[in-house]
Amino acid sequence: MKRSYDKLASLFKRKGYVWGPSPEIYEGGVSGFYDLGPLGTILWHNVANTIRMNYFEEGFYEITSPLIMPKKVWEASGHLGGFTDPLTKCAKCGAVYRVDKLILELFPNEKVEGLTYKEYDEKISKLKIKCLSCKGPLTNTVPQNMMLKTTVGLNTEAYLRPETATTTYLQFKRYYEFFRRKLPFGVFQLGKAFRNEISPRQGLIRTREFNQAEAQLFIFKKDKNKWDAWNKFKDFKLNLYPYKLQEKGKPKVMSLSEAIKNKCLQNKAYASCLGIAYKIMLDLGFDPKKLRFRQHFPNERAFYALDAWDLEWRSEFFGWIEVCGIHDRSDYDLKQHSKYSGQDLSVQANGKKEIPHILEIAFGVERLVYCLLEQSYDEEDKRTVLRLPPHMAPVKVMVLPLVTKDGLDKKAKEVEAFLLDEDFYAEYDDTGSIGRRYRRADEAGVPFCITIDHQTLEDDSVTLRDRDSMKQLRVDISELPEFLDMALAGELDF
Ligand SMILES: [Zn+2]
Repeated sequence: MKRSYDKLASLFKRKGYVWGPSPEIYEGGVSGFYDLGPLGTILWHNVANTIRMNYFEEGFYEITSPLIMPKKVWEASGHLGGFTDPLTKCAKCGAVYRVDKLILELFPNEKVEGLTYKEYDEKISKLKIKCLSCKGPLTNTVPQNMMLKTTVGLNTEAYLRPETATTTYLQFKRYYEFFRRKLPFGVFQLGKAFRNEISPRQGLIRTREFNQAEAQLFIFKKDKNKWDAWNKFKDFKLNLYPYKLQEKGKPKVMSLSEAIKNKCLQNKAYASCLGIAYKIMLDLGFDPKKLRFRQHFPNERAFYALDAWDLEWRSEFFGWIEVCGIHDRSDYDLKQHSKYSGQDLSVQANGKKEIPHILEIAFGVERLVYCLLEQSYDEEDKRTVLRLPPHMAPVKVMVLPLVTKDGLDKKAKEVEAFLLDEDFYAEYDDTGSIGRRYRRADEAGVPFCITIDHQTLEDDSVTLRDRDSMKQLRVDISELPEFLDMALAGELDF
């Protein structure tokens, strides 16, 4: 049978990972909004905490800002004026489309990055693209702002934040004091952002409400090549796709220090940000062979950005997906907020006032959840398996009595309680044959099963089954925590 996105999505629904579009019971929901079910929510937390720990290890501190900010903030950041997507409408039935996504959907090999609206219109007519539902003609491309507007109090115009980054920048002076007036320093936020996407149709890849995990490094321009953590990252070998190679050529694997040497990357602090993002992907359990860093073309990135790369993961169904953006934002943000707020955001650097630069690492959390699920989905002859990396799996171990008599069920519940007490996400299941229960656990991505049989009652030993190889070991109950720790770290041979 052919693998398809619909089959994956239906498994994720059935197993309690992703539900929607939400609210499902009201006319099938609104596109771009999803619920994470019970297992999806635990997986989400595992993803978020892995990113959190990595940022923290690199010296970044976490903060939490409001989701709603007054109009002025978004005028300063440029979102109110320029944060737009290219929109076209069907002149006959009124269906709306995001032009670049529509072109790519029909012609996956077309280049759409950095096109002007006029060039979009030319492409639409050259490729003879019509309305997908009624074949009607499409109108000229117009900009559509992606901010969601709201009102605070009776009449204060405000917007839901379209990114966490802007809200992070506003407290720069507070960080400066917190970090005892010493740059560089890093701050990150993990929280919701909202974008009024035009007709999103790609499940968790393109949603209107999502979580970001964005880290911001505040650094003086002159210090970008004096970065303490550089030694840790300089030998990382990354699959880099500079814009010059995108015109003709292929991505090239090189170490970060080579990339600096041949001017593919501009400085060590920025190169280290690519390294941090890469390390996070490995810690999440992603296959490095499906990753690449793609540099933005100069006309594709924001006018103030000195450099921009997307960390992309190759999806079987959607092609290359951006999961993280790494940006050198120059001193643009703090300058803008100085200007619009009237507050001086410059600080002392070698006896003179200076506005620091900002380097940003921006992950989308739900996208990572989707990519992990897609990467894990596997169909074998007799079973469907969700091969989630064991350390990311929501439920770590399923406890199964062979039969529900002779006291085996009671013993199994004792083992479940023991494991929960030892801080393992354990679950008890006695419904159906043992084979069916194994299949059910495999489909839900549970990496290990423990079976209680008659021998357990005699010698307090159980079988420990590995999801991926289906092999089993006989283990004493008292030793289970130790064995599970090893198994979750991938250090146990079955
Ligand atoms: Zn139409």
